Amino acid sequence: MFSAHLINDPFGDPGVYVEFRHKRRALLFDLGDLHNLSPRKLLKINHIFVSHTHMDHFIGFDYLLRVCLGRDCHISIFGPPGFHRQIENKINAYTWNLVENYTNDFALHVTEVHPGHKSRRSYHCRRAFKPEIEETDETPSGALFEDSSFAVKGEFLDHKIPCLAYSFEEKSRVNIKKNALLEMGLPVGAWLMELKDRILRGEPDETPIRVWWKEGKQKAGERFILLSELKAAIVKMTPGQKVTYVTDAVYNEDNARKIIELAHGSDLMFIEATFLHEEADKAAEKHHLTARQAGLLARRAGAKRISLFHFSPKYKGAAEHLVEEAMRAFNSGG
Ligand SMILES: [Zn+2]
Ligand SMILES: [Zn+2]
Repeated sequence: MFSAHLINDPFGDPGVYVEFRHKRRALLFDLGDLHNLSPRKLLKINHIFVSHTHMDHFIGFDYLLRVCLGRDCHISIFGPPGFHRQIENKINAYTWNLVENYTNDFALHVTEVHPGHKSRRSYHCRRAFKPEIEETDETPSGALFEDSSFAVKGEFLDHKIPCLAYSFEEKSRVNIKKNALLEMGLPVGAWLMELKDRILRGEPDETPIRVWWKEGKQKAGERFILLSELKAAIVKMTPGQKVTYVTDAVYNEDNARKIIELAHGSDLMFIEATFLHEEADKAAEKHHLTARQAGLLARRAGAKRISLFHFSPKYKGAAEHLVEEAMRAFNSGG
């Protein structure tokens, strides 16, 4: 249950805000100009995934720091090789002699991603943001981050420097049909949480599930029902959604293959469309995609919807040409 949208108009700094409904939780792709996000929205962010540190993707770091300073925020940030040094350069531009007595300890947990490995450092406000080496946790799926509700993967693209593209995949959700529960005469309670966990872990159908409830102060009632029976009667599975964020990449065979693989089957694909295809040479020289290339890549990835951004300012007032060209390629391969 989330929504994902561009922070700025397609001519503004790139960035996507993903917001979870009914939860104090959000994530961000890229750290460009963030002024369109209210402090309330910024303070919901727990994870940030930065593609690379060209200014239009990283200038918002200072604003984020400003809003979070003195608050009880813990934010995990991921970025490409050299990322620790660049975060530290930004932090070291300021003087931190009065922060040790702050009531809240704002902290950044920064993961520098390399092909094949990653390393993590943390920076605590009350320790004047001095770098501290942290252990890096590996996820079995190879994702950069994973928990029970979603996973984020990264892929290195060639932008004359390494630039990370990201996919966000929500896990399937287990919904309980309350009416069916009533009809079976089963109580609501903690056992339902355990049931959900066991389904998500993929336990076999013949697993007996303990349905239990409290009777008076100490006595508990219980009943065992097969997982298969509960699944058929009271469970509705909702497949998770997939969102991909692809920006700042030259069009070549290697990048195309990686983008298509990463974005495969996306429900929504955010992809840069910087130039019209008549300027393909210029796009190649600047290591960006054209609108046509963006549309074709999304089509080959089997994306359901696309959202275009990172338009060159030269097309101000003529954005529809970029959109038309990308949509033509996306819908008909033309
Ligand atoms: Zn760039
Ligand atoms: Zn850029």
